[in-house]
Amino acid sequence: MWEKQSDTLIMGLNNVSIRFHCPNCGTLNTFLDLSIPESNVNYDNLSESDSNEDTLENCVNEKCTEDFNISLTNAADGLLIQVDGIADNDIEYK
Ligand SMILES: [Zn+2]
Repeated sequence: MWEKQSDTLIMGLNNVSIRFHCPNCGTLNTFLDLSIPESNVNYDNLSESDSNEDTLENCVNEKCTEDFNISLTNAADGLLIQVDGIADNDIEYK
């Protein structure tokens, strides 16, 4: 079941699928089973964490030139999904 990312950090997943609409063409982009970087317990919160993983993906619409930098940051208090150009709250995950 897809859930909207809220202000609460995401806990308890090993990998994550995300989806969001392309701001350029409106196509729904879905990326499945992204691996979450291992949480480093030495970092108490997200702002201190260096445990993050960036992936660059093109829009699934072949006619669209938009690309997305997807960033997963993990810390003891949870996971944050960020995509350049997409509001955090417009990202859904499962
Ligand atoms: Zn697009």
